[in-house]
Amino acid sequence: MRQPLGVVAGITPFNFPAMIPMWMFGVAIACGNAFILKPSEKDPSVPLRLAELMTEAGLPDGVLNVVHGDKEAVDAILHHPDIKAVSFVGSSDIAQYVYVTGAQNGKRVQAMGGAKNHAIILPDADLDQVARDLIGAAFGSAGERCMALPVAVPVGDKTADALIEKLLPEIEKLVPGASTDPDAAYGPVVSAAHKARVESYIQMGVDEGAELVVDGRGFSLQGYENGFFIGPSLFDKVRADMRSYQEEIFGPVLQIVRAQDLEEAARLPSEHPYGNGVAIFTRNGLAAREFASKVNVGMVGVNVPIPVPVAYHTFGGWKRSAFGDTNQHGMEGVRFFTKIKTVTQRWPTGEVSDQAFVIPTMG
Ligand code: NAD
Repeated sequence: MRQPLGVVAGITPFNFPAMIPMWMFGVAIACGNAFILKPSEKDPSVPLRLAELMTEAGLPDGVLNVVHGDKEAVDAILHHPDIKAVSFVGSSDIAQYVYVTGAQNGKRVQAMGGAKNHAIILPDADLDQVARDLIGAAFGSAGERCMALPVAVPVGDKTADALIEKLLPEIEKLVPGASTDPDAAYGPVVSAAHKARVESYIQMGVDEGAELVVDGRGFSLQGYENGFFIGPSLFDKVRADMRSYQEEIFGPVLQIVRAQDLEEAARLPSEHPYGNGVAIFTRNGLAAREFASKVNVGMVGVNVPIPVPVAYHTFGGWKRSAFGDTNQHGMEGVRFFTKIKTVTQRWPTGEVSDQAFVIPTMG
């Protein structure tokens, strides 16, 4: 039988302050555990409201608990002997730290990390659809999504040139704005420090020799001059050896890496240190099937830009995008938040034939 672990914890990132806590505590509580949530210190009010709603809905006190804080709170969780399992989502270096430290303290740990997802675009793809999808997937939520598509890999220079031609007028229309403005394409990034970090990656791309086709730096929104807004940026001729390609930027920046054939294109996501999601755009079913089966990445979309699996499947990447053996939610979540107990039974009747039953032993 599967039984609950007892007290378990979840540590979550600033983006998706509702969805990611709910990936964890829904399954954990349904499996019979008590849950401690340590949300991001950058936007803790949504998770707190979720807990209030659970209380209003009748969840008994103590079943879902919210603890605020940063590294100090995380370390307290990782070292507490009564916490049996820790589910983490955040950046890769912290994910690895949580995975190693939790395991050293005898806990079960699953730790999801960062990402750098690629879109492979074959010459037979519907480029109007690709351009529309890339605009949403690369720039939506200001690129602050672990399933964003910040790298486009068109196969062949003709495909690349045609794609850029379709992207440019769409990018021009993208104007970030306040979250209360229904016409805003996306909002500000999370903090001044993160804005500076994204802009430093744009400069890094320029210094490394990539071609900056659209520069989103220097954008200022009237009435919100101190807001953390960044306009959309587009790079062409990015190369795999560039640091700005190897690392996660987590901002409204789309990088185009040109490939001459499908083999060269497919190698890029497979050899990249991150392996969260990847998408292929094509009308060729055989090419899509072979790509999906061979690519070294955890979640694959075929003509789907952000391949987040629907809820009854599970969520999780490969390589530096996830440490541990189980994905988030679905049946993988049930496995993570429960342990197996095996009961071997015998019900003797007192008859002679019962005496003949012996447990086999060696020697
Ligand atoms: P983060 O790693 O800075 O923070 C995540 C959590 O770790 C927070 O609760 C934070 O308080 C805690 N933390 C921060 N520094 C710590 C430290 N030194 N020691 C211990 N704990 C620490 O991540 P973020 O900036 O909040 O979120 C963005 C990152 O999360 C991106 O890298 C993104 O790709 C990733 N992400 C991954 C997924 C996924 O499922 N793979 C989903 C969403 C976000």
